[in-house]
Amino acid sequence: MAKEIKANHSILELIGNTPLIKLNKITDGLVGNFYAKVEAFNPGHSSKDRIALYIIEEAEKRGILKPGDTIVETTSGNTGFSLAMVSIIKGYECILAVSSKSSKDKIDMLRTMGAKVYVCPAHVSADDERSYYNVAKRLHEETKGSIYINQYFNDLNIDAHYKTTGPEIWEQTNGQITHLVACSGTGGTISGTAKYLKEMNPNIKILGVDAYGSVLKKYHETKEFDTAEIYPYRIEGLGKNLIPTATDFDVIDKFTKVSDEDSAHTARELAKKEGLFVGYTSGAAFQAIKQFAEEGEFTKNSNVVVIFPDHGSRYMSKIYSDEWMSEQGFFDSVNNEESQKIEI
Ligand code: PMP
Repeated sequence: MAKEIKANHSILELIGNTPLIKLNKITDGLVGNFYAKVEAFNPGHSSKDRIALYIIEEAEKRGILKPGDTIVETTSGNTGFSLAMVSIIKGYECILAVSSKSSKDKIDMLRTMGAKVYVCPAHVSADDERSYYNVAKRLHEETKGSIYINQYFNDLNIDAHYKTTGPEIWEQTNGQITHLVACSGTGGTISGTAKYLKEMNPNIKILGVDAYGSVLKKYHETKEFDTAEIYPYRIEGLGKNLIPTATDFDVIDKFTKVSDEDSAHTARELAKKEGLFVGYTSGAAFQAIKQFAEEGEFTKNSNVVVIFPDHGSRYMSKIYSDEWMSEQGFFDSVNNEESQKIEI
């Protein structure tokens, strides 16, 4: 009899079950034990593979999607890539309405993955019919057999992490996790993971990461939507200028805000000290750990799990470009090796 060929049926089988990796050097001077859940190991290189697969398969189970139907969403980021990837394997059309602010690289990448990309003007307000929100809504309404993912307002975004990320971390730590540190954008990752972990052990502390320029931390503390908190910042995927219903604020104990500059340097430090080539928000998440440590959050018995959402390759023209870092003025305040170019 022919021997079995040990192949996966498709890349979709590789979504989830990402490794938990002990951090060994960047933690010098910190009290506690620190472990990273590295989501770049997903085939689409980010945690968004989980929600793309979960939401599409839920729609299939409910009979809303059948082969040849269409997936619609409004992002040029990780979610767009993951939806395009899952759509290829499962035989769906994928339509993404993106802002003209999106880089050419990102748009090319989505088109390479078979998505139909509509580039919409960035300068119009959200209620303008040309905005990417309204273009996506219209395309969804006009396309028979389509679903609108709407990740900021879709409870299935939380469920995806409740069903996968949470149980994985519980099992990988043998239930010994004491703190979870996670970025909040849509809030799906932190909310779903936290909900599961708190059900297993309500004493686990959930520490959220927000950006300067975003409303989430203030809203968590006051239940007030304060527009004075909103101003432009550079980190993509972290924080928000609205309150997403995919965030369950009740399961989060505390937020900290991180800066663009600190997060960029910490991401570069993760590469140099741990060999982990991860994205901008991974830098933000570890920067948050440094800040929480200063606030005295951790003891020597703490087992802290931090989620690193995506891979560094998507940030080559940003935080991993010395030119970009200089343009932002991020080398001005630090006298480190990185700022000293070696001319040959
Ligand atoms: N990091 C990156 C790079 C992201 O794209 C996102 C998603 N917006 C997040 C973190 C935050 O994850 P979530 O949306 O689940 O809160």
